[in-house]
Amino acid sequence: MELFFHISMIVTIMVVSLTGMGRTTRLFRSRGGPMAPSEPEFPTELEGEDRFLVNPLNVDEVLSFGPRAPQGSSPGFPWDRSQLPQPQQSPIDICRCKCKSMTYQPLKLSYAKTSRNDGIVVEISNSGHGVNLKVPKAEAKPFLSGGMLSNRYIYDNIHCHWGRNDIMGSEHFIDAESYPMECHMVTFNEKYGTINEALKNKQDGVVVLTWFYKLANEDNKRLQNFLQYVPSVRENGAKIFRADQNALFFPLEVLPINQEYFAYPGSLTTPPFTEAVTFIILPIAVGISKDQLALLRTLMDDKNPSKPVLSNRREIQTLNHRTVYCVKGRVQAISREIPPQQSNDV
Ligand SMILES: [Zn+2]
Repeated sequence: MELFFHISMIVTIMVVSLTGMGRTTRLFRSRGGPMAPSEPEFPTELEGEDRFLVNPLNVDEVLSFGPRAPQGSSPGFPWDRSQLPQPQQSPIDICRCKCKSMTYQPLKLSYAKTSRNDGIVVEISNSGHGVNLKVPKAEAKPFLSGGMLSNRYIYDNIHCHWGRNDIMGSEHFIDAESYPMECHMVTFNEKYGTINEALKNKQDGVVVLTWFYKLANEDNKRLQNFLQYVPSVRENGAKIFRADQNALFFPLEVLPINQEYFAYPGSLTTPPFTEAVTFIILPIAVGISKDQLALLRTLMDDKNPSKPVLSNRREIQTLNHRTVYCVKGRVQAISREIPPQQSNDV
């Protein structure tokens, strides 16, 4: 056992040294930089650069945390919440310099596609504190898998957070800086069946994929595929259905430009603030125009039906000695085809 431990340590040091080479030069920010180049939405197989995401010595048992974590390693996902300080609330300010670097196999976001002309049905609604995007048909729901996740995490909804002005709208901060908007794709562990059951399981119940928007001069056309429906759900409680898979694809543009992501154990950012959420955060933002932000502020809220939702972000919470993991690698979009006859049978 002792010999195994020493060998493990040597291998670990070798791997950390190898994978660490050149890492610092890739820790860049492009908040003010050019927009992302357009890329195919659905790479169907691993692209050339993705081979770098795989451990070069093929000893992922040493590097990976989770169910296969070796004895004595740092605690990883699923989190042992009882061993972490309380409280474990979200959002937080993520400091890059303090995050712990990790390597995992690629994290994948699977989208359904259909060749049917009228696409996949989505449900757009006004929740009273913002706009909510759901996918009624189970077969059409996106899901997350791979990376640190040992199960599929099934799509529940996408919603976004914004503020009263065009500067401070995001919930999470990166290195003490905010963004005008932050969006959340809420997913739940398939083994728990529903989002409500998953929220009772704090270690691995819910994963929220998170991304940011920065101010741009032009409308974001992909985002507009979703925002075009905001005027139709302006009133609190309004709900519409549209057969429009493009409305669901707008997060895909943020995936190729992010070469790393953050992960940490946190909570819902709305009541009841349940501490059952793992945040996966893509730090490099895409653009949103002032007009698009203004459109979101026309949604009417639930407490004051005569007033719009000017801000729906929660204030920064204390990190409280939690470890934030910095994971090298992209979240990769993959597609799966739904037979036409199944796609619109809501
Ligand atoms: Zn949220």
